[in-house]
Amino acid sequence: MSASGALRLPSIDGLLRHPACLPLLERHGRESLLAGLRQLLDELRSSVLSGQLSAVEISPEVLAGRVGERLAQQRRSHVRRVFNLTGTVLHTNLGRALLPDEAIEAVHMAARYPLNLEFDLASGKRGDRDDLIEGLIRELTGAEAVTVVNNNAAAVLLTLNSLGVRKEGIISRGELIEIGGAFRIPDIMARAGVRLHEVGTTNRTHARDYEAAISPRSGLIMRVHASNYSIEGFTARVPTAELAELAHRHDLPLLEDLGSGSLLDLTRWGLPAEPTVRQALLDGADIVTFSGDKLLGGPQAGLIVGRKELIAKIKKNPLKRALRVDKLTLAALEAVLGLYRDPDRLAERLPSLRLLTRPQADIFAQASRLQPALTEVLGSVWQVSAVEALGMIGSGSQPVARLPSAALCCRPQVSKRLRGRYLLSLEAALRALPIPVLGRIDDDALWLDLRQLDDEPAWLGQLPHLQVNP
Ligand SMILES: *Cc1c(COP(=O)(O)O)cnc(C)c1O
Repeated sequence: MSASGALRLPSIDGLLRHPACLPLLERHGRESLLAGLRQLLDELRSSVLSGQLSAVEISPEVLAGRVGERLAQQRRSHVRRVFNLTGTVLHTNLGRALLPDEAIEAVHMAARYPLNLEFDLASGKRGDRDDLIEGLIRELTGAEAVTVVNNNAAAVLLTLNSLGVRKEGIISRGELIEIGGAFRIPDIMARAGVRLHEVGTTNRTHARDYEAAISPRSGLIMRVHASNYSIEGFTARVPTAELAELAHRHDLPLLEDLGSGSLLDLTRWGLPAEPTVRQALLDGADIVTFSGDKLLGGPQAGLIVGRKELIAKIKKNPLKRALRVDKLTLAALEAVLGLYRDPDRLAERLPSLRLLTRPQADIFAQASRLQPALTEVLGSVWQVSAVEALGMIGSGSQPVARLPSAALCCRPQVSKRLRGRYLLSLEAALRALPIPVLGRIDDDALWLDLRQLDDEPAWLGQLPHLQVNP
């Protein structure tokens, strides 16, 4: 006891040697433990001096416990698995496509061992990383040549810069789109050094509009998939084949940014039709760009396919080096593309396609099965029901199409005034679970769309942790 009779905090040295701290030393290392203890003691010093803490509260055991909790918290990964029950399958904020086991194994191999990333094993000479997947992509799309970059935004930037710098890029006003995450066609064009020459109107653009814009300053004609919006009613759009014919008559390349870009006709699985890469090339597009992690169901990547001499020009651009894909992505991409060689089994093997084609009856049965457990955990304030719901593909594929699905619909049985608060607190409680659960609030209810719930035991197992505090 000091002269004033106040308690004294234990010394750092004493704590470091104390048995209560030994497991922490083992787990986190000396430096982290020391920093944690210093910080805690600094925070407690004034409360100790003013006599607000008891001897037990500053005992080595209690202090070690508090530091241990903080260190464990800091150690927790920031990249966390979640349950995507939003109803949007290819959700950009939640990582888009999930990789098939074949791709995960390929990534594991590529991460673990040296590999022939840019080395031709046949000749023993330096190779090109694009060669690893070129054959497969040519087979699956009919393209003459291929190059791959970090994402489709990069593919568009690189293509525009390679083929149209200091020239004009002609594009319909109805295709000057913005997609989430600050990707706007006019801005990308400007950064690529291509002067935007917009033609037609928002809802109607004719071949004569393109034709009138063509001059010696023209460098290319571009077409962009509208992705996340749709123009309906009094509309006109020049078919790709006609636009390609027009472009070629004037010796201009036609670029088509397909966005999602499917490799196969999705109607075969009862999904809404999306333009395929092969069809765009058949129609005469000279270069087609599309994402690896949207409908393709692979890793984040941007694929650029098309005419050989144009691809060669694109690959020579120094920006290609800045935008190239890494070995993990290439390994995953090759494995995913390999699955497309057997379309009959694709829906079983490719997770995004399996999820997109899951029958509504299946999802509804799951909702009915899980409804009692959630009802019990939430208590009588909440009415939980298994209901039909409508989800979406996401990532700019078919923005107006809806996927018939099923959900657990949670409605708070409280006055209208309190409903908002209850819904937000349930939403927060679900996010606070060990594996956060993300749903959506709509029509005074919280909806958990179960299309993507395939790990039922993990979901059920953490329900007892749910604590809703409105
Ligand atoms: C999604 C999309 C992009 C961007 O693709 P990322 O792979 O997200 O970079 C570009 N253009 C269109 C039309 C798109 O739909």
